[in-house]
Amino acid sequence: SIPGAEVDLAALPLREDLRGRSPYGAPQLDVAVRLNTNENPFPPPPGLVADVTESIRLVAENLHRYPDRDALALRADLAGYLGGATGVGLSEANLWAANGSNEVLQQIMQTFGGPGRTALGFAPSYSMHPIIAAGTRTEWVAAPRREDFSLDATAAVRAIEEHRPDIVFVTSPNNPTGQAVPLDDLRLLAAAAPGILVLDEAYGEFSPAPSGVRLLAEFPTKLIVSRTMSKAFAFAGGRLGYLAAAPAVVDALQLVRLPYHLSVLTQAAARAALRHAEATLGSVAALVAERERVIVALRGIGFPVVHSDANFLLFGGFDDPDTAWRAYLDEDVLIRDPGIPGHLRMTVGNPAENDAFLAASKAVAARFG
Ligand code: PMP
Repeated sequence: SIPGAEVDLAALPLREDLRGRSPYGAPQLDVAVRLNTNENPFPPPPGLVADVTESIRLVAENLHRYPDRDALALRADLAGYLGGATGVGLSEANLWAANGSNEVLQQIMQTFGGPGRTALGFAPSYSMHPIIAAGTRTEWVAAPRREDFSLDATAAVRAIEEHRPDIVFVTSPNNPTGQAVPLDDLRLLAAAAPGILVLDEAYGEFSPAPSGVRLLAEFPTKLIVSRTMSKAFAFAGGRLGYLAAAPAVVDALQLVRLPYHLSVLTQAAARAALRHAEATLGSVAALVAERERVIVALRGIGFPVVHSDANFLLFGGFDDPDTAWRAYLDEDVLIRDPGIPGHLRMTVGNPAENDAFLAASKAVAARFG
């Protein structure tokens, strides 16, 4: 047997506050149709693949040197993209990037949260927010959403005033439920937040709602908008998340970021992918059209579907979601059980994958309907 195989977690001097907790763990299974982690189903176009490959080849000649610690060229490219997408003039000083927006969120929590501090989110939302809070020993408070999972801004402001959190998390569009938060509501939340408001816009490109980036000038000491290349940009494997905020916020994050956290390979690949933004983001309209097609078909089968501004759908009507999730797996379709009573979540795939999902849904409805 391998060294240490007889030892389990209980034998380790683990932090008391981590005992009994579960890691993030969306199943990674070898299934024909994988619609469980909100990736873009369309592979990168050949031009992008060629550009990434050539860019990596060029930087590989300098792999003996550390990367640009400040990733300035990449941040300038991201400022160009996000500024163009939102109509807000942004500079590289407003942008910061890391290995996925999960790392961005962790750096924010390390900087503005931590022991003795509190973060508040509106449940159900992205499962990593409370997990990163736990990892950074930030106390987590979950405030509720409406019955239909939309965000009640008045109730949200009341929750902020009651708990006075150091960090407020708002996800728009919200994962795993799908609804975006209107700009006027975001303004109310930012005004009420005593400390930082983190607006997680991982799925921003799929939504018609204006980006919270438009509020940065109004709330420079409070607002941080987190984004990612994992979803609309079809770059989940490249691991590149970023944020937009006032330059002082970016300066503050330098206190906790590890030096050289973004490899030369990541920086070069992300810059190459950004040069092909038009091609990859072309998939957004196709995915939105597929989303609408799947909504109509799912409702036709008899499943209630929650309104979505993202590339996934939360749908319900299950007495036992875990059993229904397994029934989908029996049909070779992997979706997500987000732990919301009665509901499952599916990522909008390509047309063939969605057809397979809908065929499986009919079979599941026949078994449990
Ligand atoms: N925020 C939200 C709301 C997400 O759903 C995800 C991915 N599931 C992330 C952040 C993190 O994605 P990444 O680290 O790939 O940028």
